[in-house]
Amino acid sequence: MKGKVFVIGLGLIGGSLAMAVRHAHPEAVIVGMDLSEKNIQLSMLLGIIDDSVSSLEAGACEADLILLAVPVNETVKILAQLADMDLKSDVLISDAGSTKDTVVKAAKPLIDKGVAFIGGHPMAGSHKSGAAAAKLHLFEHAFYLLTPGDTIKEEKVEQLKGWLQGTRANFLIVSPATHDKLTGVISHFPHIVASGLVKQAENYSKENKLISRLAAGGFRDITRIASSSPEMWRDILLHNRDVLLELMNDWLNEMEHIKGLVANEESEEILRFFTDAKIFRDDLP
Ligand code: NAD
Repeated sequence: MKGKVFVIGLGLIGGSLAMAVRHAHPEAVIVGMDLSEKNIQLSMLLGIIDDSVSSLEAGACEADLILLAVPVNETVKILAQLADMDLKSDVLISDAGSTKDTVVKAAKPLIDKGVAFIGGHPMAGSHKSGAAAAKLHLFEHAFYLLTPGDTIKEEKVEQLKGWLQGTRANFLIVSPATHDKLTGVISHFPHIVASGLVKQAENYSKENKLISRLAAGGFRDITRIASSSPEMWRDILLHNRDVLLELMNDWLNEMEHIKGLVANEESEEILRFFTDAKIFRDDLP
């Protein structure tokens, strides 16, 4: 496809999306913008983008496709600014944010103006950030959730999939609320638990320095995601607040339950707790 693609946020996700667009559409011109001069310089150097702009307007008004890959709070602010701009009439806008309900709501003024905004979330990533971590194949075989509203025409969704075909991801359409519930369960809440486990180990390490040296193997595996960008995760928690509050309550109940089993030495039930978890875990694809 020919045209101008404007990528806002040249970090892990924006950089990887730009690479995928470039791969499938070598004739497209990719323009980038970022608050970090370092990420802009690196994106130019690595050939991720053809050019950079320093104002939103300069990139947005000429673009055929705008991809936002910034923390969700920034996405919401940028969508409000885009709604006041004179964009191309057939521009397509999408984002890569990890939450969708507040983002799609923030796009309402744009959608009301007839602009095609389709929320997106490529379900792959890493605990690394910045353009240096971007990879062409980051999203290969991963799910890529899209949340087009009822007013968005099917052809626009197909057009977006066409632009993003270089990701080689599997696209799935869901509602914003369903997206936030699913990702709350399998990504956002586990992230809170991982960081909580690290904080617990940190507290105990004040008592015994051996904790840090022994925290290898399984502990490292289940806490790897705690090394992700704190700013990004702050925004995700604040933008998926209601779902996460419900999941925290469920978790506290589950912990109370297992605490009771341990306190009462209920061997059979403890065995059932681990067996049920193992059966579900072993069945995951
Ligand atoms: P990142 O930190 O690697 O990159 C974000 C980039 O956005 C940075 O370069 C930063 O300087 C830039 N930025 C921040 N505010 C900006 C603004 N107002 N204008 C222009 N640039 C701005 O983060 P990332 O991992 O690429 O995450 C980007 C988005 O993708 C987030 O919304 C995140 O929720 C989502 N996401 C992340 C992952 C993951 O695993 N990291 C996976 C899927 C989706």
